[in-house]
Amino acid sequence: MADFLHHLNQMSCPICGSELIKEEKGSIHSNGHREESQSFECGFKHRYEPSFMGIRVTEQCPQHVSQMEKRQKLEAVKNALDEVLRLADIDEELKYKVKNYGWQYI
Ligand SMILES: [Zn+2]
Repeated sequence: MADFLHHLNQMSCPICGSELIKEEKGSIHSNGHREESQSFECGFKHRYEPSFMGIRVTEQCPQHVSQMEKRQKLEAVKNALDEVLRLADIDEELKYKVKNYGWQYI
């Protein structure tokens, strides 16, 4: 697959090393450069954007430190919300619905 694209040449995810699964070419910009993208098994995606002639990450690898920090922060929020719900003065059935089906029960 490496010869298919002109600007992107990763054979595996640069963060976790997972496999390249898809390469695509897009339309040609007025500057003569063509859009390109690569997708990897872990979900990491990047693309060459001819309008600024640069590479942009469009989906970050789940093993990237930014994604791991985001998951840790979300886990902390989830735990705090679980504790609020646990202490709430509502019956167990309503707690179950709020926890499992969302905030439309408020
Ligand atoms: Zn990855």
